[in-house]
Amino acid sequence: MKTWLDVNPKHDFSIYNIPFGIFYTGQNPKNARCGAALGDYIIDLSALYEFGYFKHHKNLQEKHFKTDKLNCFLSLGNKICNDVRISIQELFSTQNQILRKNSEHLEKILVPMQTAEMLMPIKVADYVDFYSSLDHATNVGKMFRDEKNPLLPNWKHIPIGYHGRSSSIVTTKTNIIRPKGQLCPPDSNQPTFGPSKQLDFELEMAFVTNQDTEMGTALTPDSAAHNIFGLALFNDWSARDIQRWEYVPLGPFLGKSFASSMSPWLVSLEALAPFSLPSIDKDVEELEYLKGTKNGRYDITLEVYLKSSKMDGEILISKSNYKHMYWTLFQQLAHMTSNGSPIRVGDLYASGTISGPTPDSYGSMLEICWKGSKPLSLPDGTTRTFLQDGDTIIFKGYAENSLFRVGFGSLFNTVISS
Ligand code: MN
Repeated sequence: MKTWLDVNPKHDFSIYNIPFGIFYTGQNPKNARCGAALGDYIIDLSALYEFGYFKHHKNLQEKHFKTDKLNCFLSLGNKICNDVRISIQELFSTQNQILRKNSEHLEKILVPMQTAEMLMPIKVADYVDFYSSLDHATNVGKMFRDEKNPLLPNWKHIPIGYHGRSSSIVTTKTNIIRPKGQLCPPDSNQPTFGPSKQLDFELEMAFVTNQDTEMGTALTPDSAAHNIFGLALFNDWSARDIQRWEYVPLGPFLGKSFASSMSPWLVSLEALAPFSLPSIDKDVEELEYLKGTKNGRYDITLEVYLKSSKMDGEILISKSNYKHMYWTLFQQLAHMTSNGSPIRVGDLYASGTISGPTPDSYGSMLEICWKGSKPLSLPDGTTRTFLQDGDTIIFKGYAENSLFRVGFGSLFNTVISS
């Protein structure tokens, strides 16, 4: 597949990818519309629709593209969304010169990325965060429970998760306000109230659902794939000190709900299909409802960069991979619905912190600095055990083979004081 547009096949947004997002131009968020990324351009899908390039797609209407959220488009289902993706690939392929030769249309359709701002791609319906990386769960168990027996007895049977807060999910470039809350040091029983001193990131990915289900419906790992559009990078910002004092006995609450962030471009499972891997071999047999075709793992390199306000550029502090997931996204959704709980268009399901087996692949400051015992040295001469005001965390993610790349771009957020 080749495009007449100047886009390297190793670009995150190669012709093989075609992710979807919401953007605006002219400093006016009211101009929000649906776009697809190709190289350093955004393809304005509302303009493509208006000029009739989608007229062979009978189900498409203006409302699917002239909108500030992708929910309506995604609810058309994977078949139609992928047909639109293929149409875009065809329009920009070297075999097709129709659009290339229409400079009047091109001027409206191709938007240079640097002239646009990205918005939250979806209206998040419900939000769940899982806990599905074996290495992360093992590390946390070692730090806070039992060095010799870090995993709780349920972990290899249940994709553990909790319901989070959808109203505080933001996208790239949004500042993260340091949360305040009850803090109680481990050696005390008297809490105080104030700004968190242990603000952390969590390297995660999240998938988006595109179909509603009826109450009482349980999806299987195989049927779940029809209800998932694709993935984004996800940062589950966490205040460890608030979390530590509040989480017993009901789990995470205000130490998590102050903010989470997701990358603005949604990459479809179709685009990621060439990078699919069989699920991990397990030493504990899964219950029947969690069994299915052994797929749903993806080879996606994930990188975390940190930049303090005094640094000129960012430094790489971790490199992990989505393939480290013990539970697949299909098993997560099957488990989520196994009690008959309905799902909705625009639900977001985050993976849990994705740590790999080695310290250079840990997905949080908590693990990288091992609960504060191994400070991280920065090029500006300072050290970190958790994040300070002015620190920027950047996530990048991409799947790649010898021919092409399917990437997520970046997720960029700066911590500010409260
Ligand atoms: Mn998390």
